Amino acid sequence: METSRRTFLGTVSAAAASSPGPGDDPGHEHQDVPSEPALRVKTLESLLVEKGIVDPAALDAIVDYFEHKVGPRDGARVVARAWVDPEFKQLLLTDAPTAIAKLGYSSVRGEHLRVVENTSKVHNLVVCTLCSCYPWALLGLPPVWYKSNAYRSRAVIDPRGMLQELGCTIPENVEVHVWDSTAELRYLVLPERPAGTEGLREEELAAMVSRDAMIGVAKIGLPAQEGPK
Ligand code: FE
Repeated sequence: METSRRTFLGTVSAAAASSPGPGDDPGHEHQDVPSEPALRVKTLESLLVEKGIVDPAALDAIVDYFEHKVGPRDGARVVARAWVDPEFKQLLLTDAPTAIAKLGYSSVRGEHLRVVENTSKVHNLVVCTLCSCYPWALLGLPPVWYKSNAYRSRAVIDPRGMLQELGCTIPENVEVHVWDSTAELRYLVLPERPAGTEGLREEELAAMVSRDAMIGVAKIGLPAQEGPK
């Protein structure tokens, strides 16, 4: 059964009310469910709706858009186009918003997008150390582990070790670059085109590109495991 956002927020609210606060149990890091931000969202939303400032139907429409209409496939189409069209790739790496607009995509208002290219010498990894900033416009909603404390800290402290644990081994002669996203600047990884795919059509190439490869925690054809522990 699908859980709606409002049901989820209500459940989180009830659970948080009956559980000890963060100060009561220092060993518990609340990594799976971001209860505090969710509670804050619920409180703000309730107030705005109650005062008639926000229409709840409009909020639901926005959330539905990112949950169901935008997903990692949009990002995969951008990657595949860059693999087959050198001019597009050049534009994507220098002016990503203009490039993705050519495919009919746009950044969320007010945020800038930068695309970083994986090569034989560089592997890129995207994180938001502060919260969960993510290229929503191309990848949809972020996975739960992207928002976890474990990922946000380990991606910076020991990116190579974390990637290794996720089954994404980066050779010693390849540099790992970590990009810290912000509300104003989001990053998307352009993975390397796998060898042996010369004969594939653009749509077939897009089908190979995973969300995790565009975050930088997996290589093409090698999906990451369930995120860092
Ligand atoms: Fe963030």
